Amino acid sequence: MRKGGTPIRNFDAVVIGGGITGAGIARDLSMRGVKTLLLEKNSFGQATTASSSHMIHGGLRYLMYDRLTTQTTCWDSGNILQIARKNLTRLPILWPVYRGHAHGIETVETLLESYDQFQVMKGGLKHLRLSKEETLSLIPGLKAEGLVGALSFDEWWVNPVELVQKNLESAKKYGAQIEEKREADEFIFQSRKIVGLKSAGEEIYAKIVINAAGPWIDEVSQLAQIRIPLRLQKGTHLVYKEKLIPFGLILQTQDERYVFVIPSPQGTLIGPTDLATKEKPGQIKTSEEEIQYLLKTAAHYLPSFPSRYDSTIVGARPILAQKGNEKLLSRGFEVLDHLKRDGIEGFITIGGGKMSDFRLMAEETSNLACEKLGVQAPCKTALETLDGKPLSPSSFKRPSSTLERFLKAYPRLRETHAFLHLALAFLRHSVYSQKTSSEFTSYYSQLAP
Ligand SMILES: Cc1cc2nc3c(=O)[nH]c(=O)nc-3n(C[C@H](O)[C@H](O)[C@H](O)COP(=O)(O)OP(=O)(O)OC[C@H]3O[C@@H](n4cnc5c(N)ncnc54)[C@H](O)[C@@H]3O)c2cc1C
Repeated sequence: MRKGGTPIRNFDAVVIGGGITGAGIARDLSMRGVKTLLLEKNSFGQATTASSSHMIHGGLRYLMYDRLTTQTTCWDSGNILQIARKNLTRLPILWPVYRGHAHGIETVETLLESYDQFQVMKGGLKHLRLSKEETLSLIPGLKAEGLVGALSFDEWWVNPVELVQKNLESAKKYGAQIEEKREADEFIFQSRKIVGLKSAGEEIYAKIVINAAGPWIDEVSQLAQIRIPLRLQKGTHLVYKEKLIPFGLILQTQDERYVFVIPSPQGTLIGPTDLATKEKPGQIKTSEEEIQYLLKTAAHYLPSFPSRYDSTIVGARPILAQKGNEKLLSRGFEVLDHLKRDGIEGFITIGGGKMSDFRLMAEETSNLACEKLGVQAPCKTALETLDGKPLSPSSFKRPSSTLERFLKAYPRLRETHAFLHLALAFLRHSVYSQKTSSEFTSYYSQLAP
């Protein structure tokens, strides 16, 4: 079709944003036979996704106040492991505990006892407790003074940009059109319905427009005069080209937060910081204070760790603003139906979430899009690997959606729910004997380079 000599393109769905969220949605919709276009204003995967800690993880720390998010993320991390096994590398992590630390070894072990229940869903090993000597033999440069011992747990490392590209390749195979350096500039309205958008002067028509712009979702929704309040939490990592330690570490900082040291086939990352920011996405910069904070933490535990890093990466977590204090903020995601929320038809936004549950985020966003498009086809993203090999359905059930709805309605109960489970884990931990570390030493020594 042509209008005044300009070609007009028509799609069922246009997805705005080519990070992991948009790439997952493009794959999901095209696998269901929905004619999809994805637009990315810069380069695929190079925004928040590239500046993440590169982990497919369950969100261990959310166990303290948002247990269901940890459980759901572990479940979807298991699906991601199945579809992208070739792109994931096991990342054993040690949590060294020192005298005087805010969380003593029994508390940390209780937390990991609780996490163990979900590890099986994502191919993770149960935690093990290591003596001081065993810990030092695995990480020889680690500060010995005051060390009580360590606990181990494991996650998965991924190259996030590669994960985005693999999703896009799969989407293209199912017919999606994928375009980078293409910004959604303006929406095309028919009354209170969005029927398409303009990009670099081109009019693109679609039955549904999906805003998957990560920390930019508020900016994109403002094109429709809608606001989506976000709390942007900025995070910096130091990047070293060399792999500096054999296993991951989680280190308590001087202000009693935690940062990771993450070795990988690409080198080593240290971070992230975690600071509320008012900077605009796209203009977020690493500060000298953040660099010094990370270097100081590394030097405290690993005195011979090089202070000369190769580069930094920085991004902002797009957390949906919610009422209540920091602890009650859910790290879960939400699919916003703008017809119900704002009276605007043909427009959906996906906000919050993590790379570790991107497949589920895409599934739920695509479910709503398909409902509006009248498409019956179910989600197939967990039934085929990213390079096209068939998979059997997961033997693990998705965590209870009734409980999810309940905890969304009563956010204060999230912490109580988490606390009850931690109390049970503490009882189990007190009654049963501690795990031995021989298993760890033999298993992990095979993985060490
Ligand atoms: C420091 C840090 C560490 C993290 N570590 C982890 C981790 O280890 N594991 C994990 O699971 N999660 C982690 N996260 C969270 C995870 O990185 C994010 O949830 C995820 O990457 C968000 O992906 P996204 O696609 O929604 O956003 P993005 O990757 O930011 O993609 C959004 C895209 O939209 C594009 N865009 C914006 N506006 C427009 C427009 N108008 N037109 C076209 N395109 C547009 C942008 O250019 C961008 O590429 C971390 C986050 C941070 C900040």
